[in-house]
Amino acid sequence: MSNDTHYEVLARKYRPQSFSELAGQEHVSRTLQNAIDSGRVAHAFLFTGARGVGKTSTARIMAKTLNCAEGVTHEPCNHCPQCIEITKGTSTDVFEIDGASNNGVDDVRDLRDNIKYLPSHSRYRIIIIDEVHMLSTNAFNALLKTLEEPPEHVKFIFATTEPHKLPVTILSRCQRFDFKRVTVPRIIARLREIAEKESVTISDGSLTLIARKGDGSMRDSLTAFDQVLAFCGDTVQDEDVATLLGTIDRRLLAEISGALFTGNTQAVLAGVKQVDLVGYNMRQFCQELIEHFRNLLVIRSVARPEEILDLTVAELDELRGQSHHISPLDIQRRLTLFLRAEAEMAYASFPRLIVEMALLKATLLAPLVPVQELIDKIKALETAAVHTPVLPWETARTAAPSPSPASPVDSHRPVSPGHTVMPTTPEPRPPAGGGGGGGVAEWGRFVLFVNDKDRQLGSVLEHGSPLKQESGLIEIGFPAGSYYLTAAQDAEFVADVQRLAQAFTGVSTTIKIKGIEAGFADAPLSLAEKKKSDAEQRMEDLKQEAENHPVIKEVQRVFASNSIDVREL
Ligand SMILES: [Zn+2]
Repeated sequence: MSNDTHYEVLARKYRPQSFSELAGQEHVSRTLQNAIDSGRVAHAFLFTGARGVGKTSTARIMAKTLNCAEGVTHEPCNHCPQCIEITKGTSTDVFEIDGASNNGVDDVRDLRDNIKYLPSHSRYRIIIIDEVHMLSTNAFNALLKTLEEPPEHVKFIFATTEPHKLPVTILSRCQRFDFKRVTVPRIIARLREIAEKESVTISDGSLTLIARKGDGSMRDSLTAFDQVLAFCGDTVQDEDVATLLGTIDRRLLAEISGALFTGNTQAVLAGVKQVDLVGYNMRQFCQELIEHFRNLLVIRSVARPEEILDLTVAELDELRGQSHHISPLDIQRRLTLFLRAEAEMAYASFPRLIVEMALLKATLLAPLVPVQELIDKIKALETAAVHTPVLPWETARTAAPSPSPASPVDSHRPVSPGHTVMPTTPEPRPPAGGGGGGGVAEWGRFVLFVNDKDRQLGSVLEHGSPLKQESGLIEIGFPAGSYYLTAAQDAEFVADVQRLAQAFTGVSTTIKIKGIEAGFADAPLSLAEKKKSDAEQRMEDLKQEAENHPVIKEVQRVFASNSIDVREL
């Protein structure tokens, strides 16, 4: 860095002096240059955009281009008297007005008087009004008169961060140019150029931090760079930059998220501790986590993330490496945790605790099983089910192709070898009636059979208990007073079920419907009751399984909690 006693700030020293030096606003430069080349330069321009993106610089470059003694070409020469005067701000034909401080109608009247005269030694009188939205209504009205019939030798260039505050009458008389926020890679490239000119040694990582600090504004980035150089001198250390700018080192963020994905709770909490040690604001940290996970999500969700994210190539590569094995859905679930934590932190007395909780939850989150995998599992189960042993009634029917009432179907069951009677669920209530012990399994098959033929019949039968199952007779009980009992007592219903029972057993079968009084404990379970009891059993099993899962055990240990709620997805 130069050792001049007078230190000129970088933003001023490296203010762009030509269109080619204007970083990140190529769309504006190109249009303006085309207009100049084709001789169609408007009378009034409006430059809009965030602070520090080059609006005023462009206005000056434009003024020089129009008044350059070397002729109107699409770049100013920057060495003729006109160009030099404009750069210095001493040109008598270029007026720069700050709308914020000269907002009165008198100032605009002075201006109007002023532009009546021809330029002293240039082609145009050029009026640049910065922050033009700050002008008073009267000033706007005065200005409007000039804008309506501008003299040939006058050009207006307005700049504003808030174009919506301008009257439509002004807007409609200007050619408008929207300046963009400058991307981080563009800012870094410019910072690198300046670092070389200033003979400063600095890493890309530090330049990235400085560029990010500017948040899309070249001027703010250069101001941050000034601050770093004032503290560090010619050799810049990475740690100093992070501390100085109050930004969190991206490497730390990457380390924390890397640990998170490998389930390393120790490393994740150590990371938070490190963030806290440097005195970093926890909510800000949480916001950076959110941004980081948003970046990961975009990288995993789109084909060309570089078009969407404001990241350097090195950063993109690193994030890709970190997330290539994580599904977008799993990233999104973590992002949701951090978003929730960030909202909670606004009111929290212990922000660090909230970040830690969210990070631990995110670390211990079990991956979601993709739906396709579940479908495959179900298919495998179905295939297995096809190969399970045949069931009693079915064998009965195959064993007796033309059964007669004299040979009761049930009698085949106990003697048929190799049968497996679905034995798995213990029966709390044994079948009553003792009529050959039809069994819940057989009953279940019959209900399924009916359900398959006639869904409506089946849905009623599901609520019936098989009180008696004999060859030629099935007695079905329904809760007394229930809708199902009424439905089942219908003659048509009985006739339909009889018909289906005959089809199922091969034997002409009588169906008897009975009401069961509440508390009649001897009745076997209806299919509906059985389903319910199975579901309860299954939840119990699931809970057991969940409680024994190592990850859940770890969660319970970390959060010192015993209560878990298990839900089937
Ligand atoms: Zn010139």
